[in-house]
Amino acid sequence: MLGGMQDWPLLVGRFMDYADTNHPRVEVVTKAVEGGIHRYTYADMHLRTRKLAQALKRLGINQGECVGTLAWNTYRHVETWYAAAGIGSIYHTINPRLFPEQLTYIVNHAEDKVLFLDLTFVPLVEAFKDKFIHIKNYVIMTDLEHMPQTRLPNVLCYEELLNAEDGNFKWLEIDENSACGLCYTSGTTGDPKGVLYSHRSNFLHSMIAGAKNSVEVGANDCFMPIVPMFHANAWGVPFSAIGAGAKLVLNGPCHDPEELQQYIIDEGVTGTAAVPTIWTGMLAYLKASGKDLGPLTNVTIGGAAAPRSMIEAFQEDYGVIVKHAWGMTEMGPLGTIGTKTREAITLSKEEWLDVQCKQGRTLLGIEMRIVDDEGVVLPCDGVAFGNLEVKGPCIVERYFKAEKSALSADGWFDTGDVATIDQFGFMNITDRSKDVIKSGGEWISSIDLENTAVNHPDILEAAVIGISHPKWDERPLMIIIPIEGKAITKEQVLEYLEGKVAKWWMPDDVIFVDEIPHTAVGKISKKTLRKQFKDYTFP
Ligand code: AMP
Repeated sequence: MLGGMQDWPLLVGRFMDYADTNHPRVEVVTKAVEGGIHRYTYADMHLRTRKLAQALKRLGINQGECVGTLAWNTYRHVETWYAAAGIGSIYHTINPRLFPEQLTYIVNHAEDKVLFLDLTFVPLVEAFKDKFIHIKNYVIMTDLEHMPQTRLPNVLCYEELLNAEDGNFKWLEIDENSACGLCYTSGTTGDPKGVLYSHRSNFLHSMIAGAKNSVEVGANDCFMPIVPMFHANAWGVPFSAIGAGAKLVLNGPCHDPEELQQYIIDEGVTGTAAVPTIWTGMLAYLKASGKDLGPLTNVTIGGAAAPRSMIEAFQEDYGVIVKHAWGMTEMGPLGTIGTKTREAITLSKEEWLDVQCKQGRTLLGIEMRIVDDEGVVLPCDGVAFGNLEVKGPCIVERYFKAEKSALSADGWFDTGDVATIDQFGFMNITDRSKDVIKSGGEWISSIDLENTAVNHPDILEAAVIGISHPKWDERPLMIIIPIEGKAITKEQVLEYLEGKVAKWWMPDDVIFVDEIPHTAVGKISKKTLRKQFKDYTFP
């Protein structure tokens, strides 16, 4: 028997309607690409988004077609997401830091019909325009005054598109399982793969992300997602913050720690989210300048492992609670997050910090397990580690345009991560399965080694890769960037690691560099490092 409740499709346009009705005067603030600060309210955003929806229809964008975006976190980018979703088309975020071949592949594979781009990316797109097969129009996200001279064909000005419409538009009522957004994974091997989010998955994910057990965003918050909107939906914040009526602060093209710190103070930012690389720079700046994070109380760190020293600095030096999260593009993206449970209340500060170095517990709506290579489910004892598999309504079933399902016969998605789960449900990522170092038949966690090393006060960043070894198959090589002005030696590093990691995990060599390569979403690129050190042999 069915329940007797209303059928109210979970469509993302409802978030914006909610903000307009219930929080119309709440501000959305952006560091504008043209310079300066742009400020308006949810009521303004709602009207402009409906105008853009009308403009998209006028441009001939149909239901199920893709609207590409090459844009920073700005109010116009948010408007584009909601307008595309509101007419039943699909916002497709493109990471501008991808390799040119990947970028072209993605735009063509998605069959983007129109490309919205920030001024920053005009030269980039000009270089590839002839390779984009399906794009009919390029919309430069600026006003008439700032429109550049460009070689792009069929160029339109964002603000002029809006000026031609009246905003008298209602979101299309469609099935909640309809496609809503598209994001390609960075693709360490083969072509990038598209994850096609539905309205329902975005809606559910945003409710999950906004909850207190999660990233947490409420009407009395001021939230700034520094994680880009082109990195896995900015972890859902553009939906959950709007659906909560929180003040939304967007950093535009700004990633400089000094400017970000000032922005946090000026706008009263209480919550934020970003990958560890951003925070490495910010914490170094705060230490050098003696400044603090003012009103900030809540930071979600994910995308790569957050080292203990980073979590400790946030909490002890700046009074900011860290939520260490794990997830992936394929999951919408949140999977686990470290928030305090009742069982953890009695832990000492040090004990809780140990737990916080793990990637947290599953969120509502996610099932998780670890299995060995034969598919046998392993115990949650904090010791056994295996392939991490997940299930849930916000997790990919098949990649965009793929013929085959991405799931195992019994419906689990293999994340490609290797992890332990302890008796309290806290999961700890040991490695990506392809980054794990196999030494004498045993596995060494590169993440553990890196995180232990960066706790040293003179080390800014550390990366560990496996180098082939005649006897052991692979042994760890540690690559380090010292803090500017500090001279640290290999012997000092090894001495520091001693007793903190298993003896047989100790790196066979330590190398000092000025730069460690990062992926398009700011993680250490092990693939590039392995290429860089392919001819390296241990002394
Ligand atoms: P992406 O889809 O680009 O966000 O990448 C997802 C992958 O990033 C995951 O499968 C993990 O390997 C890694 N990752 C995400 N969060 C964390 C974390 N907190 N600690 C360690 N690895 C992480």
